[in-house]
Amino acid sequence: SKKQVGVLGLGRMGTALAGALLGAGHDVSVWNRSPLKAGPLLDRGARLAATPAEVGSVDVVLSCLSTYDIQQPVLEAAAPKVLVNLTSGTPEQARGVAKWAASEGIDYVDGVIMAVPQGIGTPAAQVLYSGSETVFAAQRDVLEVLGAPVFLGEDAGLAALYDLALLGMMWSTMAGYLHALALVGTEGVTPAQFAPMASAWQSAVGGFLPGIGEQVASGNYETDVSALDINAAGLALLVETSRAQGISPAVPAALQELFDRTVAAGHGSHAIASVIEEIR
Ligand code: NDP
Repeated sequence: SKKQVGVLGLGRMGTALAGALLGAGHDVSVWNRSPLKAGPLLDRGARLAATPAEVGSVDVVLSCLSTYDIQQPVLEAAAPKVLVNLTSGTPEQARGVAKWAASEGIDYVDGVIMAVPQGIGTPAAQVLYSGSETVFAAQRDVLEVLGAPVFLGEDAGLAALYDLALLGMMWSTMAGYLHALALVGTEGVTPAQFAPMASAWQSAVGGFLPGIGEQVASGNYETDVSALDINAAGLALLVETSRAQGISPAVPAALQELFDRTVAAGHGSHAIASVIEEIR
């Protein structure tokens, strides 16, 4: 059955969320500081609320604003019955809103969107949730419209923790790719020429992740694949070549210090997974 859903915040992401909900036939109310942004949604049948309080009385409210500081007064004004918080923040911030919601008698679940706005409404969009499992289950029909919902646990901070961990991987990968493009670019290689090798290599590297996870879980870093000292030596070559080609070695240099410290701690013959000992 279709629900009354409220969306607080019509930035790039909030607009995509509201659009997907309209597409699925829900009755959607929207509020945004700049109401003009609601235009295309209103054409598709959304209702414009003049204040957050006008949204609050619906079955479930989704909030997606820039930051928690901006969000909190909006949430207090909306006073929803059921709240799904999709604004990005720290685990502590998510737990803070969970505590506030509990004190106000608001059913609460925290979510993080592992997708760009253009991916919303497709199965490739993972949305991770934590907080009340009862609320998650009760709102599953609405949440499934946004992307593939995954429930992580009752600690409201878990979704934010996963979010930052996953984003960290994305940023490291992107920085590594930009360094690679800069390096090959010093010899006139274009991104279009390099991209096919980069994509294939990225897939191969993705295949290493389960094995690395097993080594971290077991603490057994024995390897017959590739030892850390060989990798540390390769990394030093990359830093040296970056300097020689006249580009900043900042990206590989950040790893070099960590790898060298791990080798110095006695892990030279172990797998790369042993670097986690120094990170911890
Ligand atoms: P936008 O910058 O596009 O939108 C920001 C939203 O916050 C707008 O609704 C804006 O209102 C509102 N806002 C900003 N300042 C204020 C204020 N002082 N008072 C009231 N409202 C305010 O950001 P996104 O939509 O991209 O991101 C929203 C959240 O979603 C963020 O937490 C982000 O991390 C998260 N997210 C975004 C992804 C993305 O790819 N875009 C991916 C995953 C998560 P106004 O229109 O009036 O400026």
